[in-house]
Amino acid sequence: KNIKMYFPIQSGLLKKVVGYVKAVDDVSLTIRTGETLGIVGESGCGKSTLGRVILKIYDPTSGQIVLNGADITHKKGKQLKSLRKECQMVFQDPFASLNPKMRVGEIVAEPLWVNHIVAKPEAFQRAEELLVKVGLRPSDAQKFPHEFSGGQKQRVGIARALALNPRLIVADEAVSALDVSIQSQILNLLNDLKKEYNLAYMFITHNLAVVKHISDRIGVMYLGNLVELADKKDIFENPLHPYTQALLSAAPVVDKKKRKARILLTGDVPNPANPPAGCPFHTRCPQCLEICKTEKPVPQVRSNHHQIACHLY
Ligand code: SF4
Ligand code: MG
Repeated sequence: KNIKMYFPIQSGLLKKVVGYVKAVDDVSLTIRTGETLGIVGESGCGKSTLGRVILKIYDPTSGQIVLNGADITHKKGKQLKSLRKECQMVFQDPFASLNPKMRVGEIVAEPLWVNHIVAKPEAFQRAEELLVKVGLRPSDAQKFPHEFSGGQKQRVGIARALALNPRLIVADEAVSALDVSIQSQILNLLNDLKKEYNLAYMFITHNLAVVKHISDRIGVMYLGNLVELADKKDIFENPLHPYTQALLSAAPVVDKKKRKARILLTGDVPNPANPPAGCPFHTRCPQCLEICKTEKPVPQVRSNHHQIACHLY
């Protein structure tokens, strides 16, 4: 609720704060059990930062994070540790931060013994079961990361995220490094697991085809703001926000009849350390009104729970 994540910009030897990067600037949204909420936007729009705030990797500057009705914004220590089990992350490259000398079985089992859920032998057995769940073999537990392909590595990353029985998985560009044919295998696996474990996903990506494949609802971010949020069908068939319209018009469409004229945006995305007054998109919006230059549009909910922040509506 109303999440703001401002990172201070420091200067000089005394590290004086001279400004803030407004990575996330007042975003509210709900992720429901059993759904995949896709978050789409260009790099630097704040989508990864928002995912990390939700997982409490970053403490938000202001706003509230509510999990199952409980305010978890300021939980620390032991309480935070037990919350961490409920919310897990799947990264673009799950092995970038892991010890290449660890066997895959250890990688998957580690969260179980580190969190004192089960002892090591039992954790290993559980890891083998999890590897099977994600389409690998129990014997793969003995192998090292370099023996796996990119798609198989991501399966291991998913098994590790599942180890603690989470409620929510935040996936940040989880298939972006994979070949297209492998991407759909991983997306289908995630869908199957979601049903089996009644999970919720926040699926962060810059890729429209991926977000279309996996999402139930989609949120569109621009310059730290959530500019539109609606069911997938409504986003793709009836995008309302001028930025969403431009974003979708740039995506390749196979069906010629459905192809719309490409909306070309001029100028660059403004610097999040110095965002424009008024609507964050006004410097590039083809439909900008006078009011847009001074007043920031408040998100409004229209029919079909279609939420939009734009003065045109
Ligand atoms: Fe464009 Fe104004 Fe809507 Fe912003 S509020 S997207 S500038 S029309
Ligand atoms: Mg990112």
